Amino acid sequence: MKLKDLPIRKKIIFTNFMMIVIPVLIVLLMIGGIIIGFFMKEGSGAAIAVLDTMSDTVTNYQLQMMVDYINEDIVENENAFEQGSILNEMSKQFEEMGASVMITDETGVRYISPDISEDTVEAQMDSLGVQDSPVFLRTEEGFAYKAIVQTEEDTFIMNVAAPELAYPIGGDYHTLEAIKLQIKIILVVICAAAVIIIIITGIVLSKNLSRTILTPVQKLGKATAAIRSGDLDHSVGYSSADELGQVCVEFDKMRERLKESVSMETRYVQQKQEMIAGISHDLSTPITSIKGYVSGILDGIADTPEKRKRYLCTIYDTACDMEHMVDNLFLLSKLDMDKTPFYSELVEMGSYLADYCSELRPMMQKNDITLAFENRCTSLAWAKIDRMQLGRVFGNLADNSIKYKKADECVKSRVNIVLCQENGLIKIMWIDNGIGIREEEAKQIFGRFYRGDSARSNATKGSGLGLSIARRIMGHMGGNISAEGRQGLGVAITVTLPEREEKSEKNPDC
Ligand code: ADP
Repeated sequence: MKLKDLPIRKKIIFTNFMMIVIPVLIVLLMIGGIIIGFFMKEGSGAAIAVLDTMSDTVTNYQLQMMVDYINEDIVENENAFEQGSILNEMSKQFEEMGASVMITDETGVRYISPDISEDTVEAQMDSLGVQDSPVFLRTEEGFAYKAIVQTEEDTFIMNVAAPELAYPIGGDYHTLEAIKLQIKIILVVICAAAVIIIIITGIVLSKNLSRTILTPVQKLGKATAAIRSGDLDHSVGYSSADELGQVCVEFDKMRERLKESVSMETRYVQQKQEMIAGISHDLSTPITSIKGYVSGILDGIADTPEKRKRYLCTIYDTACDMEHMVDNLFLLSKLDMDKTPFYSELVEMGSYLADYCSELRPMMQKNDITLAFENRCTSLAWAKIDRMQLGRVFGNLADNSIKYKKADECVKSRVNIVLCQENGLIKIMWIDNGIGIREEEAKQIFGRFYRGDSARSNATKGSGLGLSIARRIMGHMGGNISAEGRQGLGVAITVTLPEREEKSEKNPDC
């Protein structure tokens, strides 16, 4: 999981933790590096001195310590020149290393290594080139030390000479002050480095943290501004698994919904305008016609009782058409507002359609249309329908098959109704061999006030509301209605309904 995807709380904890861990690790690494440097004998004299005490070489530091011990003993111990003193012990160690120790004062020699004469020590000092004091001298193989040790009562001259030490010599000589200075420098460097590392780590991690928080917030701000200015296509464009990522995703979903509802609103307004235009147009034609016939009667054009009766019948028919259209409009707006009650019941569609066709057949025959019903279902096909509303849908299909049948008398008009089951759906296909529609009209015919060319050329042939009412009704019943057609070959309307289980649906508890 990336840092970006962590929840914000964890991200902050992690960053704070890293702000401590990273500098500590780096400082530890630095200290480790310095220590390793010491091990490689490239470090400070202090470390070399410490480490070399563990090896079998003799270092300057050890030699210095030894002469310092003797010095101290002379100054602080009254019995320094007696057996068992530090002076004696250290001198013995020098002698084991092959060095000669000689300490003199005004009275003469106070201490000299066994089996060696004063002259020999002097000669050794000379051979090592030691004249004045204080001297601490290291050669390739040997060592010499000469110092004046001042006590309250006496002044001693201390000589340690070893032209050739019995032990190999290692390390460089560093004074204690130099070592202290080196340690101070190292501590200052480590502290300064620690401060710099803490600052750099803090800046880098804070920037990173603020970027992961600020980036989505900035993007959200931009998206909000875009929406405010009416741009509903501007997506936030940020994805991560943290809380802000979720907010961005939800914001995008909200934008999509808003876009949908805005386009729905636009469609709705457009539909409303189209509907008003449709109503005005469709009412003005019959009104004009009624006015014409009424003025015909009033002006005495209909001068015979037969003519007057014909005029009045036409006026009556036109008024009936208008009433039908107003009824349809009323029904459509009630369907739009979900104000039409639906009384659904579980019906076996095979027997329902067989009955429906028997009732419809005489009317179709009266219009010279042969009606055939074919049930291709392999089992009983149950669906939940409102009989009256579905009857309204089929009634419209029947009206259309009658209205748009071919005028050619040589063609035998027919309507085939086929029932089948497919993927959990019940399909009812209403196929006629009328004048048909153009392929591209298949979707348009369900639009409000849509009327095909043939319908438009004949004012009495419908108002273009029947199929849009049918689509609304099918939607309310959880089904669908679609069309396929070819100009001159007829139309196939497919009505689908979800297939239901007979038992569970019949159970009133379900
Ligand atoms: P209308 O009242 O005009 O028939 P509909 O909504 O029922 O309104 O139909 C819309 C249009 O679809 C019709 O004007 C017609 O052009 C076309 N249409 C519908 N059914 C048929 C059909 N069976 N054959 C040919 N055209 C049809």
